[in-house]
Formats: sequence, structure tokens, C-alpha cells
Amino acid sequence: METRIFHITEQNMDEAALAVAGEILQKGGLVAFPTETVYGLGGDALNPDSARRIYEAKGRPSDNPLIVHICRIEDMYPIVREVTPRALAIAEAFWPGPLTLILEKSDRVPYETTGGLDTVAVRMPSHPVAAELIRCGGGYIAAPSANLSGKPSPTLAKYVVQDMNGRIDAVIDGGEVGIGLESTIIDLTVEPPQILRPGYITREMLEQVLGQVDVDAAILEGGGDLVPKAPGMKYRHYAPQGDLIILSGEESKVVDYINKAVPEDVRGGHKVGIICTDETAGLFGDAVIKAVGTRKDEESIARRLYSILREFDDEQVTRIYSEDFESDGLGQAIMNRLLKAAGHRIIYV
Ligand code: AMP
Ligand code: MG
Repeated sequence: METRIFHITEQNMDEAALAVAGEILQKGGLVAFPTETVYGLGGDALNPDSARRIYEAKGRPSDNPLIVHICRIEDMYPIVREVTPRALAIAEAFWPGPLTLILEKSDRVPYETTGGLDTVAVRMPSHPVAAELIRCGGGYIAAPSANLSGKPSPTLAKYVVQDMNGRIDAVIDGGEVGIGLESTIIDLTVEPPQILRPGYITREMLEQVLGQVDVDAAILEGGGDLVPKAPGMKYRHYAPQGDLIILSGEESKVVDYINKAVPEDVRGGHKVGIICTDETAGLFGDAVIKAVGTRKDEESIARRLYSILREFDDEQVTRIYSEDFESDGLGQAIMNRLLKAAGHRIIYV
């Protein structure tokens, strides 16, 4: 299959190209597109064949449900059993934006899209290209991240092309995404509501609208016996090809540990990479050093993290050390993704 590339940005909303891409979706084809979180791999959420194609293109296990993307709040009504008052309140507070709601599904949504579950994940993205493509594509677009299963989510179209060229009908290149981590997922079918995946919208922000909000214990602990409630969170994920090890502890001890480990790794035949911050970038010896941003601006760290993991792959790095990050606010989402990318290998120094 030949994959077409369209260039569509907020500044250049090519309506003709969007109409073509929308028609591909309506006919059951797949189109990758930018959202404010990461690039999504879109297919018609109400067409079981499209859902099957998405799983096939990604190599994703079919028990891992897809998020249904909409472009108007009212479009939520036909696909869920009931829009509860708190679902409406939270949608009005955070949509369009990086928040996914889990609600009971209606019969309109095929089980292929929900991975066999009776619940459905719904999100209304704020990226103008995404919103317009969803409208042109019929209003209900299933869109997991546009990477091969297990790899870091793409924050640039070139990484979508790397993974998906020849596997899908089209890619919309809309430049670099703004947030860089997937949406926060909140389950509204339980009491109190529960965060299944941390993201840009934090627990503190959600509690202002909903009152008490819990966090799925499995995403905080991880690596143990607890099974995460979002089926996708149980897989090793976001992973670079090199083995990744996180160092946790006082900054100077982390730096010392890495500086001692690197020469040994190099002697053992490794090409070593380091994920550090602007604050520590000058403190390391000879390695592929990548500063992910400054600790004073976690948003810059979120935006850079996945592309750094991809760059290590491009440079064939075989071992990666990373500093750790805060465990609350946006830092919680960053640490959650980093831990999963590392298969939960963390060394306390
Ligand atoms: P992605 O589309 O790659 O961002 O992944 C979607 C995430 O949403 C996965 O972790 C899924 O397991 C999760 N998800 C989607 N639908 C549901 C649902 N109905 N219940 C719980 N988690 C869900
Ligand atoms: Mg994903």
C-alpha cells in the first residue's frame, strides 16, 4: 500500500486535503494525524473493519481498546449509555483537551473498538487539524497513538512515517505536537472516579471539578503484581531499543553513578546514552548526552521525552541511563512513561 503524505497545519488548513483524508476514513481506510498530545492513527470508530485494521497496522493486541475521538461535546450522547452529570461537567471543564473519559458504551460502538469491553473511552482533542479531520471523517474516529505497538508514541510526523509507511493510507504532517504525552484517562464508571493513566490534566485539576479522585494503584507502583485497569497500561510500552535504567537519588550521587558506569559499559561493547536535564548536562563524561529540558519547566520535558527515546534508536544506542523526575503533577505522567519505557528498572543511589 502506498502511504500518501499531506501537509496540513493550523496556519494552512488545506480544506481540500482534509476532505480527501476524511473520505479515506469514511471508506474504512486509516489516516494518521496530529493531536495536541501525540500523533494518532485514525479509523472509523463505528466500523469494526476499521478497528481491526488499526490493530493490524500497529501490531497491537486486540484486547487493548481504542479511544474514540469526537469534535463536539454533544457527539458523546449517541455512543455512551448515559452522559452522567459529572461526565458533562468534566467534559465542559476540560474539552477540547488532553482528557479521555471512560463511560458505559451504547450499542453503536462495536466491541472491536472497545477490545470487547462494555465501556468506551471518549476524547475531544483541541488540535484544529484533528478536529476538522474528525468532522470530515464522520464524527467518530478511533485513534490510538500512531506508533508500532511497544514503541514510543510519535511526536513528529517523521516517526509516524518510520513506523507506518506502507501500512496505512495516509499521514497528515502537522509539525511537532504541543504536549508530547498521551491524554489523561479517567474512569467515570466507578466511585470515586479513578485515573487510569496520568497525563497533562492532573489529579489536582480533576479534583477541582469532581471532588475526590483516586489514582489506579498499579500505575504508581508498577512492576509488581497489580494489574492496571486500562488494558494498554499492562504492556511494556514507549520503549526504546536500548535497555533503559532510571537512577533515583540525590543529584550528585546520580551523576557519580552514571559517570562510573559508562566507561565499564563502553568496555563491554555498549554505545551509551544519557537522559539528563539542562541543570546537569555539563556534568557527564563521554556518552550520547541528551538534555530533556529544565526541571523548572516540566512541560518542556514532557514534549521532548519521546523524541529523545526515538533519537537514541536512530543513533543505535544500546544502553541508556536516565535521571528520575517528580512523582506528582505533570511529573507523575513523565515518570509513569519513563518507568514503562524502562520496564521498571530503577536503581536507588
Ligand atoms: P492509546 O490509544 O495508544 O493512547 O492507548 C489507549 C489507552 O486507553 C490504552 O491504555 C487503553 O487500555 C485505554 N483504554 C481505552 N479504552 C478503555 C476502556 N474502555 N477502559 C479502560 N481503558 C481503556
Ligand atoms: Mg499508545
